[in-house]
Amino acid sequence: MNQVSALSKKAIFREIENNMFIIQFFHWKDKEVLNGRPWCFNQYLILLQELGPSVQPNDIQMKTSPFWVRIYNLPFDCRTKEHVTILASKLGEVLEVEDDIIEWDRSMRARVMLDTYKPLRRLQKTRNKKGETCWVEFKYERLPFFCYKCGIMGHTERDCQMKEDEGEEKGRQWGAWLKASPRKGMKIGRKKSSN
Ligand SMILES: [Zn+2]
Repeated sequence: MNQVSALSKKAIFREIENNMFIIQFFHWKDKEVLNGRPWCFNQYLILLQELGPSVQPNDIQMKTSPFWVRIYNLPFDCRTKEHVTILASKLGEVLEVEDDIIEWDRSMRARVMLDTYKPLRRLQKTRNKKGETCWVEFKYERLPFFCYKCGIMGHTERDCQMKEDEGEEKGRQWGAWLKASPRKGMKIGRKKSSN
């Protein structure tokens, strides 16, 4: 894992339960690797959570992970941090909203703590400044495996618990189109556009 190799000091991994590990860091700065979440291994999401010293293993509930979410088809008069925060909060706790960089992308980005046990939300109803109802679309960066049938991370359609007819009835409502490629090379893009 690249993130682990970036540590300045060693870290200790201990397995406390099946598929549950404690990672102990020895330098406060190494904890910052958590900012690189979501971590994935073989396209499976690794849930990471900071623990206090008095936590009991039975009380640990690993459900959430931060993701960069992009909001598309946003009315131009809704491209404010306030409006994006309201929309992103429908998905979970909003950690950060990126400044509007309209020359770079049609979308706006927010970092949101998602409940990984809930289906990925694809659309959200909102109102423009005239009060007209419209729908905006969400896409997610660095998405791990998720099910195109129920929209939940951690399994694929083959292992889905949802009854076959439930999913078929509505048709596949999730798909690879929910994946947004992570934003890279923004500086290069900006340079180009200013030339
Ligand atoms: Zn499923």
